[in-house]
Amino acid sequence: MARAYSPAALEIKSLAERVLEGDQAAASRALSLVTDEGEGCGELLRLLFSRRKRSHKIGLCGPPGSGKSTLVSKMTAGLRARGETVGVLAVDPTSPFTGGAFLGDRLRVAEHALDRGVFMRSLASRGMMGGLNPTIFGAIHVLEACGFDRILIETVGTGQDEVEIVHAADTVLCVSAPYQGDEFQAMKAGAMEIADLFVVNKADLADIEKAMASLRDALSLGTQEEKSWKPPVLAVSALRAAGIKELLDGVDAHREHLNRSREGEVPLRSQLRRELSLLLSRRIFRETLSLIRDEHIERLVSGKADPESLAAELTGMKTPARGSRKNGGPRGPRG
Ligand code: GDP
Repeated sequence: MARAYSPAALEIKSLAERVLEGDQAAASRALSLVTDEGEGCGELLRLLFSRRKRSHKIGLCGPPGSGKSTLVSKMTAGLRARGETVGVLAVDPTSPFTGGAFLGDRLRVAEHALDRGVFMRSLASRGMMGGLNPTIFGAIHVLEACGFDRILIETVGTGQDEVEIVHAADTVLCVSAPYQGDEFQAMKAGAMEIADLFVVNKADLADIEKAMASLRDALSLGTQEEKSWKPPVLAVSALRAAGIKELLDGVDAHREHLNRSREGEVPLRSQLRRELSLLLSRRIFRETLSLIRDEHIERLVSGKADPESLAAELTGMKTPARGSRKNGGPRGPRG
């Protein structure tokens, strides 16, 4: 039987078509629908997923103040000069969804505001359980469907989310700057494993050599497993747009390495595994929470049941033993 589309479903279909044609106003609406998890967002993503472009996704992490926003703006300008289109997602772990409001205050938007080849948007990174918000993957699919050559994913905060965000990127830049010892130390351990390029920004400052040396030291001490890609350490000055060409060349060299080697599919598999596991855990979370009734609480209060057994009873699943993860569970970075 032919599928009958309701007016709302027809609207979603036409929105998807417009996104796929590269219409930025449609992409903007689609992004809001996806990040708000509005009605029809699942259908929209279904229509976009198989027809999306394999955009090159570049993640930037690093402590606040290291110059990521400035760098994103300069990288965007450099990529545009090479004739590429750029989508930017700024992921802010602290703010609720802002619809781009806080980005509006930022200089870099003004720089690219009139350029139809650039699209920028800010997103909240926290999901309902505190971890990475799965709608970020949906937002990326919208930009891929809109056909951007590159997608820059910038994290605004520090901490676990920074590391998590790399599950969405093919190439990860870890940005630091002189005078950021403590903050950078805090994330170094995580960053070592995930960075494909180390960028030391603010090369116009006197202490750049010291910062580079300290980073190289840390890298040589690190227990990095032997990989076919050795992350380079690059000095740039985002403020003066110096070293941006070399940085973009380095980013391209990493992409070529991915395309050439058997590692090429590793980031994609890791991204899709992460997206699926986040979506699954959220679904299971919501569904199991809706099972709780007052009578269950009464049974706990009266001592007729204990929380562990009741959880097992409600879900039909035994209490999992720690370390019993089987194939399919979330993995560490780039797994
Ligand atoms: P973010 O918090 O990592 O996004 O950092 P921002 O891009 O907001 O930059 C933080 C501060 O560092 C701002 O005052 C920038 O103007 C400044 N900044 C960024 N890049 C450079 C640079 O290359 N050299 C110098 N001296 N300052 C920079």
